Amino acid sequence: MMIAEVIVDVSAYPVDRPFDYFIPEQVEELIECGCRVKVPFGNRNVLGFVVGIKNETDVPLDKIKPIASLLDIEPVLTSEMLQLAKWLKQETICYEIDCLQVMLPSALRAKYEKMVVLQTNVENLDEPLKHYFQKSTKVNYKEFEKNNLLIPLKKALNKKLLSLENVVKQKGQVKEIRKVKVSDNLQLLQEVYDKLSNRAKKQKQLLLWMKQHVGEILEPDFIYKETNCSPQVLQAIIEQGAAEFILEEVYRNPFKKDVKKTDFLTLTEEQKQALHKIVEAMDNRSPETFLLHGVTGSGKTEVYLQAIQHCIQQGKDAIVLVPEISLTPQMTNRFRSRFGELVAVMHSGLSIGEKYDEWRKVHQQKVKVVVGARSAVFAPFENVGLIILDEEHESSYKQEDTPRYHARDVAIWRSKYHHCPVILGSATPSLESYARARKNVYKLLTLKGRALNQPLPTVEIVDMREELKKGNRSMFSEKLTESIRNRLKKKEQIVLFLNRRGYSSFVLCRDCGTVMQCENCDISLTYHRYNEKLKCHYCGYEQFVPTICPECSSDHIRYFGTGTQKVEEELMKLFPEARVLRMDVDTTKQKGAHEEILENFGAGKADILLGTQMIAKGLDFPNITLVGVLSADTSLHLPDFRAAERTFQLLTQVSGRAGRAEKHGEVIIQSYTPEHYAIELAKTQQYEPFYEREMMVRHGAAYPPYYFIALIQVAHEDVLLAAEYANKCAEFLRTHLSFNASIIGPTTAGIVRLQNRYRYQCLIKYKIEPNLIPTFLQLMKIYRTDWIKKGVVLTIDLDPSMI
Ligand code: ADP
Ligand code: ZN
Ligand code: ZN
Repeated sequence: MMIAEVIVDVSAYPVDRPFDYFIPEQVEELIECGCRVKVPFGNRNVLGFVVGIKNETDVPLDKIKPIASLLDIEPVLTSEMLQLAKWLKQETICYEIDCLQVMLPSALRAKYEKMVVLQTNVENLDEPLKHYFQKSTKVNYKEFEKNNLLIPLKKALNKKLLSLENVVKQKGQVKEIRKVKVSDNLQLLQEVYDKLSNRAKKQKQLLLWMKQHVGEILEPDFIYKETNCSPQVLQAIIEQGAAEFILEEVYRNPFKKDVKKTDFLTLTEEQKQALHKIVEAMDNRSPETFLLHGVTGSGKTEVYLQAIQHCIQQGKDAIVLVPEISLTPQMTNRFRSRFGELVAVMHSGLSIGEKYDEWRKVHQQKVKVVVGARSAVFAPFENVGLIILDEEHESSYKQEDTPRYHARDVAIWRSKYHHCPVILGSATPSLESYARARKNVYKLLTLKGRALNQPLPTVEIVDMREELKKGNRSMFSEKLTESIRNRLKKKEQIVLFLNRRGYSSFVLCRDCGTVMQCENCDISLTYHRYNEKLKCHYCGYEQFVPTICPECSSDHIRYFGTGTQKVEEELMKLFPEARVLRMDVDTTKQKGAHEEILENFGAGKADILLGTQMIAKGLDFPNITLVGVLSADTSLHLPDFRAAERTFQLLTQVSGRAGRAEKHGEVIIQSYTPEHYAIELAKTQQYEPFYEREMMVRHGAAYPPYYFIALIQVAHEDVLLAAEYANKCAEFLRTHLSFNASIIGPTTAGIVRLQNRYRYQCLIKYKIEPNLIPTFLQLMKIYRTDWIKKGVVLTIDLDPSMI
């Protein structure tokens, strides 16, 4: 009797533990930990993951049901991932199933057709399997299931003769190419040869060659090249039966263009020293975390590239994480140009099918490097030698949904598992990381100069209040206008950046001051010109712009705020001769649009690139000599204790886009609060003074990195019930946590009503609180057993930002 321990996909079940199921005899040989199964739960079948296999159980046998079906005959999760999930659920106070699901591409969470794909010569297969692959290298999995061939199939999979793949069919995306399969019958080849007259010299030559390639599957082009024969000759041979055309599935190619190979650069002294330390840790199998602090343009990426090279030479794999927003083709191409086919790419711009293809390149260990956004930290490499987080300070490394994990923490966990180093790279490290580096928890590596020795750009701050006093009501200061004109004359390129975090174009009634609001949230609606609609960016609610005010019936409705479209219009008026490219959510909706805009700008097809956060990073064009920041302070006034840090990071990033080649760069930052230290210190682009200053602020307010914080949010459609459960929650925390933790609240959340629910929150600050995790787990249990049925939504975030 064999029993599987299964983590089931049931939300709102109070207990987070595996359940026991009998393993039916016919799958005993096939099942492994990490396989997906369907199991009966209550009165339905649910998805589950096998996390253990055993011979005995404490559960009464009549209570145990058998597994309904086995979905995988080779595991989709490695034992490392199963261990990681156990740790991650504690770290993020969520359920194991959530952690298991987040590690997989969505294609494996839904039902897709399964195919068995031939990996080698059909000759290597044993008899029962062989004949299924006579005509094609791809056979439907059902065939084997139907004919009771799963056990031989699994054996062949283990020997890597075959692979098992979920085929995600999307229009025109499963690509098959025509290949030539030389007959595996040597005698037949000889017979055809003998039959031919001596005049068919070319055909005879080809047959002789084919005798050296019996049973092989070859590309037609390869045959033409090797034998100098023409397609007609090959066709003739195929007609004689000595070879045949077959179809073979190929991976969808997420890359639009091939890239040219690039060579290693000779490192600067600083780069060399940094690389040396990293290589040393790799050689010693030492799971150290390095903080690579280097100004923009200091050549951090080149250090990554050479460290990866070393990793590959060690026979190991590398994971490179890049913030979603900077996963531009420019960035990924830098890795592809060095490591070519060995690179897989994972990000949200790929289709489900492409994502799955990239995932299985990793799963089958066909690539050595993954470049991807946050979730690529779960790339199922089995022999990781290096993990890199570029722009480690970026907020997108934190998932704002269950499981609320930070990729940095997962990376460090994996580095310990694999005994390999982690590199955190940034020009403006997060305060947490820099503080750790100062305490020697992380090893600090510094690149002070730019790689090509270019000076940092000159930064000037313009006080916009003075502009108003001068009577300039435009969003362009005199200084910026003049500089733009100057660059246009010199045919140099300009980047204009609109800081739109927490900024929007809203619609307001000029008579009564009513701002059009979302029906479900306490959020003003954002105006979109392209479809003349107002949209809520939190819940997706949409409506047309009203012609009369819903409050006072006035028809004086007006748009406020500055969107990129509005800036574009004003630019056109000021500089009718300028060619402007706009990059924002609206112009980059279509796949590849992002790529195209950058390409056009890089090719000099425009003078000005105007955009939002999207353009802040990765942009590396030599002809950009002016960067203008239209509104530096919009991100300062958000309910976020990291607001100043984020503003400083953003300004430093954008400024770094200027003057990356020989021509000197200039940066103009417009601000209504130029005296704020985040803006003032962005002028010198020096990190340390900002760090010191901001640390003082955090210390005074008892925020990270001095204290840890956790945020518990209680939401309900009924405002009174929301308040009631928030109080219960606070009371529970106060009785269970020690005096080491201070509990603030309940208070209303920054945005009180969101998606039609009222939200309250409790904030916990602590340094060391041993009761914390057990208390949270218990609270979660109460929630899952009882509160959830009453419509309460409870979230626990151990690393929140917006508070
Ligand atoms: P960062 O990632 O720190 O912003 P990059 O890696 O983008 O810096 O480097 C900035 C520029 O300097 C790039 O154009 C890069 O090709 C160039 N570069 C980096 N290292 C070297 C080097 N050792 N020799 C010559 N050029 C270099
Ligand atoms: Zn009104
Ligand atoms: Zn809304």
